[in-house]
Amino acid sequence: MNRRENPTVPYLEVQNLVKTFGNDRAVDNISFGVPQGGFVTLLGPSGCGKTTTLMCIAGLHKLDAGEIRVGETLYTSAARHVFLPPEKRDIGMVFQSYAIWPHMSVAENVAYPLEMRKVGRPEIDERVNEVLRLVGLGGMADKLATQLSGGQQQRAALARAIVSRPRLLLFDEPLSNLDLKLREQMRIELKRIQRDVGITSLYVTHDQSEALVMSDEIIVMSKGRIEQRGGPRDIYARPVNRYVSNFIGVANMLDGVVVRVTAPGRGEFEVTHGNERVRLPCRLGEGLGEGSCAVLSVRPENVHATRDKGEGPCLEGKVLQTIFLGNCLDCRVLWGEFEWKVLAHPRLRLRPGERVYLRLDPEQSLAVQP
Ligand code: ATP
Repeated sequence: MNRRENPTVPYLEVQNLVKTFGNDRAVDNISFGVPQGGFVTLLGPSGCGKTTTLMCIAGLHKLDAGEIRVGETLYTSAARHVFLPPEKRDIGMVFQSYAIWPHMSVAENVAYPLEMRKVGRPEIDERVNEVLRLVGLGGMADKLATQLSGGQQQRAALARAIVSRPRLLLFDEPLSNLDLKLREQMRIELKRIQRDVGITSLYVTHDQSEALVMSDEIIVMSKGRIEQRGGPRDIYARPVNRYVSNFIGVANMLDGVVVRVTAPGRGEFEVTHGNERVRLPCRLGEGLGEGSCAVLSVRPENVHATRDKGEGPCLEGKVLQTIFLGNCLDCRVLWGEFEWKVLAHPRLRLRPGERVYLRLDPEQSLAVQP
């Protein structure tokens, strides 16, 4: 079985990639793969090396070290002095700026990559019409590119990137210029189109919700390195450290110590609360054992607030602030010096100043590396 047919073998494979600018390592020895037809996202704050990684794959930067393969083809190897020029890489790219030509019609823009390849006119017309329909620009072929809205221009840019059926699609923050509503709609559309055409895709964004909605796998980056990789649910529910927990979604994070391991992957986490020490049962992240300094990460939707003390252990706090969001009540609850973020049921009608009891589900409380 060759690499193209085997879903367990990455189709795009990046190994030990290093890229420096002067003395700065923009990308610091990262390795990852994207299976054929897969959609993987590089997620991280500005300057963490996402775009540089894409540029290396596209052949717009030379590597200092490492190798890049697509299918059976070695695109770049620093050690073996292999460097396939960008135009031979068969890669489609979609950027933040739409980069479509204003003096050409939509159809001419989209046809361009096929003309470059000297594809015959009847086939060009057929394929251009097909992709324009696919991206929802069926009736717009003859319009000038400048007559399109931002969202439509980005659809045209996507059509141009996929019309030649490239081996790989690279996206660099393609939705950043669109307003929120359109961005949310386009995430779903873009993912649908990618699935329909089945082109292996690597996507770059700093927007965690975009990454969660669109990706088969997310690679969280910081300072040129990979902090964690995994499926969206996995990264959200089991962040490996404070950085990832902070970056993906919202979390309450308490500093403390793991004082007991009660079962494999389960234990007790101790935090200081005023003059007291409070023990909270939790799950233990990788590499943590008795005596480890750690951070307890609990998502706001996993903190259950009640007015009645009820049975069993709970934390007594005071409501500081509530914001009604329709389907939930976003609350801040003061517990000693710690401010809990809690999503409560709107029926609870909590008011600032009220006493409230918080219960943490041990299964949803995760101690992670600081
Ligand atoms: P952003 O979303 O802001 O582009 P990013 O995660 O994509 O962020 P990169 O653009 O890859 O980050 O930049 C990573 C680091 O490399 C940054 O410190 C940046 O200043 C530096 N860098 C990127 N390109 C160059 C260049 N051509 N010359 C010098 N330094 C560069």
